[in-house]
Amino acid sequence: MTKTETSQGLVARCEAKGLRLTGQRRIIAGILETAEDHPDVEELHRRAVDLDPRISIATVYRTVKAFEDVGLLERREFGDGRARWEDADREHHDHLIDLANGDVIEFCDPEIEALKEAIARKLGYRLEGHRLELYGVKLES
Ligand SMILES: [Zn+2]
Repeated sequence: MTKTETSQGLVARCEAKGLRLTGQRRIIAGILETAEDHPDVEELHRRAVDLDPRISIATVYRTVKAFEDVGLLERREFGDGRARWEDADREHHDHLIDLANGDVIEFCDPEIEALKEAIARKLGYRLEGHRLELYGVKLES
Protein backbone atom coordinates (compact mmCIF):
# COMPACT_ATOMS: atom_id res chain seq x y z
CA MET A 1 0.00 0.00 0.00
CA THR A 2 1.38 3.39 -0.89
CA LYS A 3 1.42 6.51 1.21
CA THR A 4 -0.91 9.35 0.38
CA GLU A 5 0.63 12.02 -1.83
CA THR A 6 0.31 14.67 0.84
CA SER A 7 1.92 12.74 3.68
CA GLN A 8 5.27 14.00 4.85
CA GLY A 9 8.16 11.69 5.43
CA LEU A 10 8.67 10.27 8.89
CA VAL A 11 11.83 12.30 9.44
CA ALA A 12 9.99 15.55 8.67
CA ARG A 13 7.09 14.56 10.94
CA CYS A 14 9.50 13.76 13.80
CA GLU A 15 10.98 17.21 13.49
CA ALA A 16 7.53 18.78 13.31
CA LYS A 17 6.73 17.09 16.64
CA GLY A 18 9.88 18.51 18.16
CA LEU A 19 11.56 15.11 18.48
CA ARG A 20 15.31 15.45 18.55
CA LEU A 21 16.81 13.30 15.83
CA THR A 22 20.36 12.17 16.33
CA GLY A 23 22.16 10.71 13.33
CA GLN A 24 21.28 7.19 14.47
CA ARG A 25 17.61 8.01 15.03
CA ARG A 26 17.51 9.63 11.63
CA ILE A 27 18.79 6.41 10.06
CA ILE A 28 16.16 4.36 11.89
CA ALA A 29 13.44 6.82 10.86
CA GLY A 30 14.63 6.56 7.27
CA ILE A 31 14.35 2.76 7.35
CA LEU A 32 10.84 2.92 8.78
CA GLU A 33 9.84 5.57 6.28
CA THR A 34 10.66 3.34 3.32
CA ALA A 35 9.69 -0.03 4.87
CA GLU A 36 6.87 -1.70 3.00
CA ASP A 37 6.60 -4.51 5.54
CA HIS A 38 6.17 -4.71 9.32
CA PRO A 39 9.65 -5.10 10.78
CA ASP A 40 10.22 -6.03 14.42
CA VAL A 41 13.06 -4.55 16.48
CA GLU A 42 15.53 -7.29 15.47
CA GLU A 43 14.80 -6.78 11.79
CA LEU A 44 15.06 -2.99 12.11
CA HIS A 45 18.37 -3.46 13.86
CA ARG A 46 19.66 -5.71 11.06
CA ARG A 47 18.78 -3.05 8.48
CA ALA A 48 20.19 -0.24 10.63
CA VAL A 49 23.63 -1.84 11.15
CA ASP A 50 23.95 -2.19 7.38
CA LEU A 51 23.95 1.61 7.31
CA ASP A 52 25.74 2.28 10.60
CA PRO A 53 27.31 -0.66 12.45
CA ARG A 54 27.47 1.35 15.69
CA ILE A 55 23.68 1.35 16.14
CA SER A 56 22.74 -0.89 19.06
CA ILE A 57 19.53 -2.82 19.43
CA ALA A 58 18.81 -0.76 22.57
CA THR A 59 18.92 2.41 20.46
CA VAL A 60 16.53 0.88 17.95
CA TYR A 61 14.20 -0.13 20.77
CA ARG A 62 14.27 3.30 22.42
CA THR A 63 13.76 5.02 19.08
CA VAL A 64 10.67 3.05 18.03
CA LYS A 65 9.28 3.54 21.56
CA ALA A 66 9.82 7.30 21.31
CA PHE A 67 8.19 7.39 17.86
CA GLU A 68 5.26 5.34 19.12
CA ASP A 69 4.81 7.63 22.14
CA VAL A 70 4.26 10.65 19.91
CA GLY A 71 1.96 8.72 17.56
CA LEU A 72 4.31 8.40 14.58
CA LEU A 73 4.43 4.62 14.65
CA GLU A 74 1.82 2.01 15.24
CA ARG A 75 2.62 -1.16 17.06
CA ARG A 76 1.34 -4.38 15.57
CA GLU A 77 1.36 -7.87 16.89
CA PHE A 78 0.52 -10.75 14.60
CA GLY A 79 0.02 -13.58 17.05
CA ASP A 80 3.66 -14.55 17.57
CA GLY A 81 4.29 -12.25 20.54
CA ARG A 82 6.71 -10.02 18.60
CA ALA A 83 5.98 -6.31 18.34
CA ARG A 84 6.20 -4.96 14.80
CA TRP A 85 6.10 -1.40 13.63
CA GLU A 86 4.44 0.46 10.88
CA ASP A 87 4.31 4.13 9.94
CA ALA A 88 1.13 5.49 11.56
CA ASP A 89 0.61 7.77 8.57
CA ARG A 90 0.02 4.96 6.14
CA GLU A 91 -3.45 4.62 4.75
CA HIS A 92 -5.72 2.47 6.90
CA HIS A 93 -5.60 -1.23 6.09
CA ASP A 94 -6.14 -4.59 7.72
CA HIS A 95 -3.85 -7.61 7.76
CA LEU A 96 -4.12 -11.26 6.82
CA ILE A 97 -1.38 -13.39 8.36
CA ASP A 98 -0.32 -16.62 6.66
CA LEU A 99 0.09 -19.10 9.51
CA ALA A 100 2.37 -21.36 7.47
CA ASN A 101 5.09 -18.86 6.58
CA GLY A 102 4.28 -15.67 8.50
CA ASP A 103 3.61 -13.63 5.35
CA VAL A 104 1.52 -10.56 6.05
CA ILE A 105 -0.94 -9.51 3.36
CA GLU A 106 -2.47 -6.05 3.57
CA PHE A 107 -6.00 -5.38 2.44
CA CYS A 108 -8.75 -2.82 2.78
CA ASP A 109 -12.32 -3.82 2.17
CA PRO A 110 -14.99 -1.09 2.01
CA GLU A 111 -17.70 -3.48 3.20
CA ILE A 112 -15.73 -4.37 6.33
CA GLU A 113 -14.98 -0.69 6.96
CA ALA A 114 -18.68 0.16 6.71
CA LEU A 115 -19.58 -2.78 8.94
CA LYS A 116 -17.18 -1.66 11.68
CA GLU A 117 -18.72 1.83 11.61
CA ALA A 118 -22.21 0.35 11.74
CA ILE A 119 -21.39 -1.93 14.69
CA ALA A 120 -19.91 0.96 16.68
CA ARG A 121 -22.91 3.16 15.88
CA LYS A 122 -25.35 0.43 16.88
CA LEU A 123 -23.55 0.17 20.23
CA GLY A 124 -23.81 3.93 20.64
CA TYR A 125 -20.26 4.89 19.66
CA ARG A 126 -18.49 6.92 17.05
CA LEU A 127 -15.61 4.85 15.70
CA GLU A 128 -12.22 6.42 16.38
CA GLY A 129 -9.96 3.52 15.51
CA HIS A 130 -9.98 -0.15 14.73
CA ARG A 131 -7.78 -2.99 13.62
CA LEU A 132 -8.51 -6.38 12.21
CA GLU A 133 -6.20 -9.32 11.81
CA LEU A 134 -7.13 -12.47 9.93
CA TYR A 135 -5.09 -15.63 10.37
CA GLY A 136 -5.22 -18.29 7.71
CA VAL A 137 -3.59 -21.02 5.69
CA LYS A 138 -3.50 -20.97 1.91
CA LEU A 139 -6.18 -22.93 0.10
CA GLU A 140 -4.90 -25.73 -2.12
CA SER A 141 -5.28 -24.62 -5.72
ZN1 LIG B 1 0.27 -3.01 7.44
